[in-house]
Amino acid sequence: MYDAIIIGAGPAGLMAGIEASKNKNILLIEKNSTPGKKLLITGGGRCNLTNLKSNNDFLNNVDYNKKYLYSTINNFGPKDIYVFFVKNGAILKEEKENQIFPLSNKASEILEILMKNTSKMRINYNEKVINIILHQDYKEIITNKNSYITKNIVIATGGSSFKQTGSDGDNIKFASSIKQPIVPIFPAETSIELEEKLDLAGVSFDNVQVIYQKKNSFGNLIFTHKGLSGTSIMKMSEHIYKNKKKLIYIDLLPDINKEDLIERLNKFDRDKELGTFFSIYFSKRFSSYLINRLNKKSDIKIKQLNSKDILEISSLLKLMNFNVKKVSDLETAYVTGGGIDLKYLDSKTFESKINEGIYFAGEALDVHGPIGGYNITLALSTGYTVGTCIRNKWFMKIIKGLLNIISLYFFFFLVYLLFKYIGTLNWPVFNEAFKFISKIIEKPIINIYAVLTEYNVNILFIVAGSVNVFYNLYQKKSK
Ligand SMILES: Cc1cc2nc3c(=O)[nH]c(=O)nc-3n(C[C@H](O)[C@H](O)[C@H](O)COP(=O)(O)OP(=O)(O)OC[C@H]3O[C@@H](n4cnc5c(N)ncnc54)[C@H](O)[C@@H]3O)c2cc1C
Repeated sequence: MYDAIIIGAGPAGLMAGIEASKNKNILLIEKNSTPGKKLLITGGGRCNLTNLKSNNDFLNNVDYNKKYLYSTINNFGPKDIYVFFVKNGAILKEEKENQIFPLSNKASEILEILMKNTSKMRINYNEKVINIILHQDYKEIITNKNSYITKNIVIATGGSSFKQTGSDGDNIKFASSIKQPIVPIFPAETSIELEEKLDLAGVSFDNVQVIYQKKNSFGNLIFTHKGLSGTSIMKMSEHIYKNKKKLIYIDLLPDINKEDLIERLNKFDRDKELGTFFSIYFSKRFSSYLINRLNKKSDIKIKQLNSKDILEISSLLKLMNFNVKKVSDLETAYVTGGGIDLKYLDSKTFESKINEGIYFAGEALDVHGPIGGYNITLALSTGYTVGTCIRNKWFMKIIKGLLNIISLYFFFFLVYLLFKYIGTLNWPVFNEAFKFISKIIEKPIINIYAVLTEYNVNILFIVAGSVNVFYNLYQKKSK
């Protein structure tokens, strides 16, 4: 019997295996013939591994479900990931917004480092997990080739996008078979389609501001055949998906304010064409689009513009509107929103509160961040947390056992006090019975209390006991 079987050799499953296999017997099952297929295409093949944000800044940028992530990010956050890879021989570089990439610009280097650390576990490739069966004392994994028994299972099967990489929604399938609640999935970090038919595919901008409802995002922008893409749009796509309002605005020149722009237009050589002014900032193709959109002649000169025209031009460049048709499908999204509902997991271990010994890690969970190294960080961090938890399970069990003994003592101590008090009341029938019971439990309770007092630890005992009782009650309530 295995101590744990991990399903999925993405960054989450590999990191869980690396940690757990330090002292446990681990089997990792991957349906592809090789590990980390999605990892290899990340960051355009360069892999934006993480970002050097402080743990707090990192979490502030994950505006979804972050309250469940404090513990794991503090266990193994962006800086720990950086140190792990550097210690294992990676040469990393920092780019804009603290994003970390391998100096070689090769995602394969990141995968190689993970794989270098997997020698203590067994990995079966070309094997697809089909079913999970929960027995009273163990769990069973059925694959297309075999069946295995194990004490624990880690579901690290990823999300539901880019299915050709292997992550095709098995987290949802397994969750439903073991009655683990999920949050419905949706595309996150993806492009949008526009109502407008624009002949601008391939036109791109390094930095724009996207404004949608009350939110804004910065980053690059690319016109596609059907609409818009680029980091500025991807960061906004989740809000567009949830909000469904049509109008989206683009500030094409976020570094210049509107008044400055008007001044620049007014001061521009009046004998030059408007297209010449636009070509300072934009490609020829996009400049022609702008002139068309303004309903002006292609050779219109600056001197032919009146103040209303100048205001209209600056408004267009600072707040160009488009109509959203839809957010692109899940299949092409970089990340899947939704997944395993975190309310039903212990946020310190990602173990199910419903099915003991079932853990989840990575994109299978209902967690995701913006692009910029957040999602690989979340996969590695949750994988690490799950792996260390499995590795230390016996230790945690002893601690839990000790806490339960303390709570039991605490409980009897309170019962003793209560009964003793009732014994002093003048209740004809119960009075003697309570006196009798309190006498029986008095000796062990008082003796233990005396020992505790001698070592000055009774307060500690009472605090630990009560924390444990309340924690257990809270866990039961949220089941
Ligand atoms: C194009 C693209 C670019 C990206 N770029 C970045 C980036 O630069 N930085 C960043 O932080 N994030 C990036 N991401 C997101 C990031 O890749 C994922 O969030 C991350 O890979 C999730 O890791 P994971 O281990 O949870 O799942 P995955 O990497 O999806 O791994 C899951 C594994 O489980 C296996 N599996 C699934 N079902 C079964 C089964 N039934 N039996 C056996 N095996 C199974 C799959 O084959 C797969 O190997 C990008 C995503 C895409 C699509």
